[in-house]
Amino acid sequence: MSIVIKGLSYTYSKGTPFEKKALDNVNLEVKEGEFLGIIGHTGSGKSTLIQHLNGLIPVESGELSVVGIDLTVKKPDYRALRRKVGLVFQYPEYQLFAETVKEDVAFGPKNLGIPEEEIDGRVRQALHEVGLNYDEVAEKSPFDLSGGQKRRVALAGVIAMRPEVLVLDEPTAGLDPLGKHDILELIKGLQRTCSPTVIMISHNLDEIADIADRIAVMKDGRVLDCLAPAELFEREDLIRVTGAVPTSVKIAQMLKEKGVDFGTPVRKSVLAGLILAKYREKGGKDA
Ligand code: ADP
Repeated sequence: MSIVIKGLSYTYSKGTPFEKKALDNVNLEVKEGEFLGIIGHTGSGKSTLIQHLNGLIPVESGELSVVGIDLTVKKPDYRALRRKVGLVFQYPEYQLFAETVKEDVAFGPKNLGIPEEEIDGRVRQALHEVGLNYDEVAEKSPFDLSGGQKRRVALAGVIAMRPEVLVLDEPTAGLDPLGKHDILELIKGLQRTCSPTVIMISHNLDEIADIADRIAVMKDGRVLDCLAPAELFEREDLIRVTGAVPTSVKIAQMLKEKGVDFGTPVRKSVLAGLILAKYREKGGKDA
């Protein structure tokens, strides 16, 4: 088991008037090689949960073990943890800071104490993994790149640390549909080539259902359930909780009102097939 979370709770500003329980008895297991999606309203505890995974927030109550490192002990081995878990924040491009792309990507591995002679190879490899050409971008200022390229550089900075687990907080936030598609394809590729286990927060159920093996639904600091996308789409109650009723579900509902009932809720990819089959059945031709 890659990650085991048992009864994890966390309260911000404990004992002050601003006290806020952000995690409430979370139980979750993530297998090695799994792609886990996390979905839920703003404030449901998603960020607090993932910040526990690389030790940014220490365990206050409950148990947490990440890739064999016990974070429940008094002095967890955070150094070892950060070698194994790469955390990509929301809008990671805002954290670019170095004068050149290559220095920015090298920052993480240098901090981990990777030998100097290994760094350049890692930077080259990481830029290649995120679809950027080293010779074209390495000497440029990261601030002279396009928005999409900046996000890729920021991702490369994490990939260069060669994490076993890649944790991403809404990596498609703020991108146009094409940009979102490209980043999702990139993340799928990274799972194959670099980091076998991926945990990704998303606000978009359609998006996460297409990529994740399982999706954890969070509300008020709790994980209500963790299901495969097909199972989740059978649970109207949980879909409502996500606060993100997918377009496919809305279209299926509209068609139902017009007398064509495919059964709801339904996934985007499945709905497209059902509509096409119905069209053919009615004697239509392929568009
Ligand atoms: P999400 O990522 O799902 O939006 P968060 O984990 O950011 O949720 O927040 C969970 C709850 O904890 C929210 O009520 C939020 O206001 C509160 N919270 C988050 N960060 C802090 C903080 N640094 N101090 C106090 N409360 C916080």
